[in-house]
Amino acid sequence: MTLVASSIIAGQPVTGNAGQVRGINPATGESLDPTFTFVDEAAVDQAAEAAWQAFDIYRSTSPEQRAAFLELIAQYIEADKDRIVERAGLETGLPQGRLTGELGRTTGQLRAFAAELRIGAHQEIRINTAQPDRLPAPSPDLRQRQIPLGPVAVFGASNFPLAFSTAGGDTASALAAGCPVVVKAHNAHPGTAALVGQAVTLAATEAGMPAGVFSQLFGAGSSVGQRLVAHHRIKAVGFTGSRGAGIALMKTAAARPEPIPVYAEMSSINPVVIFPGALSTGAQDLAAGFVSSLTMGSGQFCTNPGLIFVPAKDSGFVDAAGSTLASTDGQTMLTTGICGSYFEGVVRLAETPGITAVSAGKELPGRNAPAPALFLTDTDTFRSVPDLQEEIFGSAALVVQYRDEPDLVFALETLQGQLTATVHAVEEDSSEVQAIMPVLERKVGRILFNGWPTGVEVNDSMVHGGPFPATSDSRTTSVGSLAIYRFQRPVSYQNIPSNLLPEALQDANPWGLPRRVDGSLQS
Ligand code: NAP
Repeated sequence: MTLVASSIIAGQPVTGNAGQVRGINPATGESLDPTFTFVDEAAVDQAAEAAWQAFDIYRSTSPEQRAAFLELIAQYIEADKDRIVERAGLETGLPQGRLTGELGRTTGQLRAFAAELRIGAHQEIRINTAQPDRLPAPSPDLRQRQIPLGPVAVFGASNFPLAFSTAGGDTASALAAGCPVVVKAHNAHPGTAALVGQAVTLAATEAGMPAGVFSQLFGAGSSVGQRLVAHHRIKAVGFTGSRGAGIALMKTAAARPEPIPVYAEMSSINPVVIFPGALSTGAQDLAAGFVSSLTMGSGQFCTNPGLIFVPAKDSGFVDAAGSTLASTDGQTMLTTGICGSYFEGVVRLAETPGITAVSAGKELPGRNAPAPALFLTDTDTFRSVPDLQEEIFGSAALVVQYRDEPDLVFALETLQGQLTATVHAVEEDSSEVQAIMPVLERKVGRILFNGWPTGVEVNDSMVHGGPFPATSDSRTTSVGSLAIYRFQRPVSYQNIPSNLLPEALQDANPWGLPRRVDGSLQS
């Protein structure tokens, strides 16, 4: 595939005249060919309208047809994987091994949603057959299924240029649900977005899907992104990025004449709690595991452990983490802007009264690779300064020393919503663990034991979500097969003649879907 430096609207390359962007190698500052042009608002309207024109045709495809389409996207991405990984490496500074793994996760997600379509549980078929003889009144024939919401606007994420960008989890789950997708490409990796966009387009053509099922637009978030979310043909939004941008999109979506749901994954500092029993088994090992998780990928993970509660009585962990971090090199961050925000966040934290700098790693000058940093405070300061809960995107963390169990619970109660919470405990810590579990359940989407939060499995049980500000809707997940539920809604059909029922609800069950019929599960 030749890299075509253009937006794609309903299968056609489109250039614009509303600005331009080039990929930048964050490790060298090199500006990468080619130049991508920004489209104007008329092009946004065109993409949204094409998605709407495709919607009824696309949503009426069978689960098998849609599954085959998702598998074809995976195949076309794999067919161009060397170039995609190379280009993504140049544009993001992420190492080849990480990007190869991420490409595998991306194609794996697409295939996982294909498998989900074949199982069909997400359609949630419920049938209550008519009871004409019921007393005191007969009951009607009622059948329920889930239908897709309509065209979805997806915002590619900077920190997952493959797994959460053009053909990433939001796009895969929306397409699986039966929704056409219009991607607002992330300007930090335009070439990667273009190559993957071409793969999706080839797959759509080969699978015989309507052209408007997929479009991808280059432009500024404040114009193209905002116009897309405001467009009356767009019916839902998937987003990963900063809290500020996520909230701006939520406001736009809520202010529309027809408000729409925004599934935004925004900011999380992923608290870790270490209990005395666990600490006594080895502060050094815990510190090594923590620093490794904190600095992986320059800390640019939404599940990065930015906050760690340790017993005040034992300072072994702080010393061990500090000395491990001091010998850790910085790694290139995704963009100069993200690196600049990291520096600002670290300075802000260092200047906060009650905060002590424990240690810093080594900055690599000229490579957008800032020093990892560790800070220390107590629960009183933590509780009284809400700003300490602001995400610093990168390898910076705050250790909070707690006095005892009530002090810990009191501090945890002040936490904002999070994607994850991690507990390090052994058997002797069980009563303390039981005391904090109800608090953690209220605060987070995933609770881990004796591990580290970076690393998100893609499967049926994963929840990558959580209360605000971790996400805009704590009822959902953006990773795993449950993500498909974000983009559908239930419809009931009452006394519809059998020849007019959709296939999914017909008595013969031509798609072999699992169903709940008159109160009994059938599969
Ligand atoms: P971002 O600034 O939130 O941008 C993400 C996407 O949203 C981009 O496509 C951007 O377009 C668009 N956008 C920004 N402001 C918008 C607005 N007002 N209306 C509509 N669209 C808008 O995120 P980023 O560029 O990836 O990184 C910046 C910061 O986000 C990081 O420093 C970090 O704090 C945070 N971040 C957090 C996570 C996480 O998982 N928690 C992940 C990534 C980033 P433009 O590029 O044109 O502005």
